[in-house]
Amino acid sequence: MTAQAETHAFEAEVQQVLSLVIHSLYTNKDIFLRELISNASDALDKLRFEALTDSSLLPEGETLGIVLDADKERGVLKIADNGIGMSREELVANLGTIASSGTRRFLQAAAEGGDGSERPDLIGQFGVGFYSAFMVADEVTVETCRAGTDEGYRWRSKGDGSYEIEPAEGLSRGTVVSLHLRQPGEEGEDGPASEGALKYLEEWTLRDIVRRYSDFVEHPVQMEIERT
Ligand code: ADP
Ligand code: MG
Repeated sequence: MTAQAETHAFEAEVQQVLSLVIHSLYTNKDIFLRELISNASDALDKLRFEALTDSSLLPEGETLGIVLDADKERGVLKIADNGIGMSREELVANLGTIASSGTRRFLQAAAEGGDGSERPDLIGQFGVGFYSAFMVADEVTVETCRAGTDEGYRWRSKGDGSYEIEPAEGLSRGTVVSLHLRQPGEEGEDGPASEGALKYLEEWTLRDIVRRYSDFVEHPVQMEIERT
């Protein structure tokens, strides 16, 4: 399959956002989950809307929802939805450029405030959407299949300037975002050794964040977490 893998460079603005996000020392990192759950919820709403005019998109009896799955062995947190999904073109347009107006405003505000260090809460204030995943993850994989198609794609990036897209077999409709969480001490270089992000594999941490930030989400958020 890797024969068809394509590497793309992020739009310059995305790269700027990513490096601000990755080096964000002052931001409450918990908000990454709010952003990803809100994207999942939007995707479910879009599916429901499109299904009004094309009922084949949503088989009868299927429930729409969001699942959080924590794999402690691999250090991976997944946020899955059975919503609208993305085509290859949509992946490139949505996760390679600054599609979101919130992210654009964040970047403008960061530019006005010099290196951003004087305005430590910008990320929390404007929201940087999907890219906030890189606050907690050193690699993000998005597997997605657009409703009404049977073509699945895998998008992958380490947040280092480029991302890769390849066809993926056997995906069902919707999107799975997999976060390979940062290990403790990984941040390095100029910043202090970070505490890592493995706490986001703990059930009560996730439940607490969902309760605080995503309570208004009208779709069910289910947890699949092994207890250790
Ligand atoms: P915003 O949600 O403000 O548009 P984001 O950065 O959070 O900005 O997301 C960018 C875009 O990526 C979304 O608008 C959407 O088109 C797409 N996207 C992100 N997550 C998903 C998902 N789980 N399912 C479908 N599309 C998604
Ligand atoms: Mg969003």
